[in-house]
Amino acid sequence: MYIDSHAHLYGAEFSDDLGEVLARARDALVTAVVVPGTTSETSRQAVRLAEAHDELYACVGYHPHDAAQATPGALAEIARLAEEPKVVAIGEIGLDYHYTFAPRETQREVFRAQLELAIAKDLPVVIHTRESIPEAIAMVLEAVAAHPEWRSTLANPHSVMAPPRGVFHCYTGDADQAWQLVHAGFNVSYPGIVTFKNSNALDTLAKIGYDHVLLETDSPYLAPVPHRGKRNEPSHLPLIAGRIAEVLDAALADVARTTTFNAKRLFGIGPPEQPRIAYKLKNSLYLNITLRCSADCTFCDRKGEAVVKGYSLKIESEPTVREVLEAIGDPTDYDEVVFCGYGEPTVRLEELIEVARAVKGRGGRTRLNTNGHGSVLHGRDIVPELVGLVDAVSISLNTADPAQYGELMRIDGARYHAAMLDFARRCKALIGNVVMTLVDVPGVDMARARRQAETELGIELRIRPFF
Ligand code: SF4
Ligand SMILES: [Zn+2]
Repeated sequence: MYIDSHAHLYGAEFSDDLGEVLARARDALVTAVVVPGTTSETSRQAVRLAEAHDELYACVGYHPHDAAQATPGALAEIARLAEEPKVVAIGEIGLDYHYTFAPRETQREVFRAQLELAIAKDLPVVIHTRESIPEAIAMVLEAVAAHPEWRSTLANPHSVMAPPRGVFHCYTGDADQAWQLVHAGFNVSYPGIVTFKNSNALDTLAKIGYDHVLLETDSPYLAPVPHRGKRNEPSHLPLIAGRIAEVLDAALADVARTTTFNAKRLFGIGPPEQPRIAYKLKNSLYLNITLRCSADCTFCDRKGEAVVKGYSLKIESEPTVREVLEAIGDPTDYDEVVFCGYGEPTVRLEELIEVARAVKGRGGRTRLNTNGHGSVLHGRDIVPELVGLVDAVSISLNTADPAQYGELMRIDGARYHAAMLDFARRCKALIGNVVMTLVDVPGVDMARARRQAETELGIELRIRPFF
């Protein structure tokens, strides 16, 4: 399923066949479409469409092109429309310095006024930028700093992620700018430009991945290949998802689920996700058997939303071995069954061993993703107990520096870092198939970590982006 987070369906382009356009969208599994306004007139039209069709939602606002018409009276009309039940955001608003149809100073004033409106109504924003990214980012960060309460009630107080505050639509900024935005509670969205040859968007996507991305068609504009140049419509959204999956070597289902979750979360559409015991990513099945952990990493959202690629892992209680086996089904349907989740699987060593034995018994392959603290937790070397049951082990190195390890994981760094390295050595000796991983958190010395893993331990190090 997909959500088209940006489609101007009120235009004359759709007046003859909107019913057919929406039917084609449903057939393409596009289950909801967000329709942004650009003036008080088109905002009213967007609201009317959303009232008439269950799957449509509206945003209201003044586009920077029309900023010169955004009189105090017109903005009061936007404020009134924002109260309508199917209005999910203020947008699209922003700065366009390419055309500059309205003077820059006017655009800034109208953008600022509408950010204030979104804050007052506690709504997210849909932002348009063109040749104005640094200034638009500065303005939203200023708004966030001045109003930390904006959307904060929606956030889990333990979450390391900022609450969802908005989306930069048709994102043209770079990865560093996206990083700043993501940590301030913003998503970025991509339309059909990702299907165009030599699109810069692909370089950025390759760096940021799809975890904080929304999909949009921007209909009737920017039709993806092979419809380029023609009228665009929401049913083309899967072409955009498909191209992103291809570029990032991801599964289409994972891109679809993640981007749909992001849109639901941002716009407050649809029911909350049900927590999973088992969840499929690419062709691996991951198990979520506990939320408990020996550490409390600064970058981990275990105590927050605990969402991974659109799956909620926020289980209320730990599943029994039987429940886990039921959730797995036939393990040979997957490349591997991975003990992972937002907790440390070796905390439940007995259950882990029972599940692994059953999976192996039915011809499956197993992997353990661990922080390497299992032997400390149990007061004995647990690696021999895993031999023959766990085919591969992936251990979080995090950093080669014990003091920094302690700071990042909020534990006794000296003790646990040494124990983790020891665990890695034992796994290498007894199991053989071991990798170490590292989240590319600012301040971590990658070269030193690589030396520690690859030269000292003889174990491959994989670096995951911190996003
Ligand atoms: S070790 Fe893993 S599960 Fe535990 S807090 Fe750190 S990142 Fe989260
Ligand atoms: Zn638009």
